[in-house]
Amino acid sequence: MPAVEAPSGSSPSKSTPTFSPQDVTVLFVLGGPGAGKGTQCANLVRDHGFTHLSAGDLLRAEQDRPGSQFGDLIRNCIRNGEIVPMEVTVRLLENAMDEAITRRQSNTNNNNSSSGDRKSRFLIDGFPRKMDQALRFEEAVCPARLVLFYDCPEAEMERRLLERGKTSGRADDNADSIRKRFRTFVDTSMPVVEYYEAQGRAVRVDATPGPDAVYEDTRAKLASRLGEDF
Ligand code: UDP
Ligand code: MG
Repeated sequence: MPAVEAPSGSSPSKSTPTFSPQDVTVLFVLGGPGAGKGTQCANLVRDHGFTHLSAGDLLRAEQDRPGSQFGDLIRNCIRNGEIVPMEVTVRLLENAMDEAITRRQSNTNNNNSSSGDRKSRFLIDGFPRKMDQALRFEEAVCPARLVLFYDCPEAEMERRLLERGKTSGRADDNADSIRKRFRTFVDTSMPVVEYYEAQGRAVRVDATPGPDAVYEDTRAKLASRLGEDF
């Protein structure tokens, strides 16, 4: 099946989300490029059993998928630090959620494991970066419970990205793309963070210290919002 294809029963203009927040918990994870979203998501997956979906990783996989009609579009957007049209990204996320939920159900059925006792819980990393994505995802896919926002000064993010660029192989970890990504983050993505903060749905974490300290702070803040045994 192509990666960009609707799960059966969904259509772009529907008014009911595909997944109910009663069955599925979604946390959006935001922060500038290099703020440490991916690192902290990996910690939360290890200790708390979330499923991690990185919008950027899904886009890069779609870009490289033979036969994708979106490859060139995605490649250009990523290099220029621009946001890929939301239809593509929302659909990739919805499909990935659908697959993870189906996989979990069949594991539960096959091994009698207890994973079915808890709801499916997703960390959606690097999304939504633009208001239209936020509104569309919550309306059509699933309302989000919280937004984890990793707050980091630009100078520190730049240092981390240039360091990562030595080995990441990412087409956008170079000085020119980094500058464009910062610009998009300030102009387009910060309004999304502010929208959720105004609704009391954002959890702000200072991402300047080292990864362990940031993780401790993340856990403490999530525990106070979601309950100690989140
Ligand atoms: N991107 C996008 N829409 C999204 C998420 C990512 O268009 O919802 C594109 C955008 O060009 C971004 C790039 O993918 O600059 C890399 O995203 P990623 O999340 O991997 O970057 P990071 O936050 O790790 O720097
Ligand atoms: Mg990332």
